Amino acid sequence: MTDLREETMIVRCKPVGAWAMNAHVLVCSKTGQSVLIDPGAEPQTLTKLLDNSTPVAILITHNHPDHVGALGAMRRQLGVPVMAPALSGIGADRQLNTDDRIDIGEQQIRVYSTPGHTEDQVSFGVEGHPIYIVGDTIFEGGPGKTWSCADFQTTLATMRNIVLAWPDDALCYPGHGDPFPLGPLRPAIEHFLAKDHGPFFGDAEWKM
Ligand SMILES: [Zn+2]
Repeated sequence: MTDLREETMIVRCKPVGAWAMNAHVLVCSKTGQSVLIDPGAEPQTLTKLLDNSTPVAILITHNHPDHVGALGAMRRQLGVPVMAPALSGIGADRQLNTDDRIDIGEQQIRVYSTPGHTEDQVSFGVEGHPIYIVGDTIFEGGPGKTWSCADFQTTLATMRNIVLAWPDDALCYPGHGDPFPLGPLRPAIEHFLAKDHGPFFGDAEWKM
């Protein structure tokens, strides 16, 4: 069988900056239109990642410095709209809210509100393909870091209501580390959610 994912939306990824933050580029293979997601650092590297494509937007998952360090430079260089979560404080051309759709050539991205690590973090799912760019929402080893008990509770709700609703073949592309399929992690996440973590917050692991 032909892999439609390969034919219709190409994912490019490159770690940039001191925190090895994964910058992503999604390219519609039919039209060559692309988006740059999380321009964290190294404008030259990001420019190379966009090679042979026509950028139509810069997307932001959340406004931590490792994810937006080269936003100003890339915005000036590309001259395309910046789209960011509503509360991010970034002077976005378009504010992103849950269930928003973003066109990339003949493909469409759906915005998922996935708060916890920040109060307004978003993830991006490719419509019709199991591709999810998740920022620091979830990693293979655990959810993104939180800085208060309330934020951790928000993360738990995000896992339960949003992430676990994604399909088993969802391929998650996190802000740090390698991409991973959601299906094999599902039991560990459910086990984690079933536990009482008390007043915990910080760096969490599924196995704790
Ligand atoms: Zn972050």
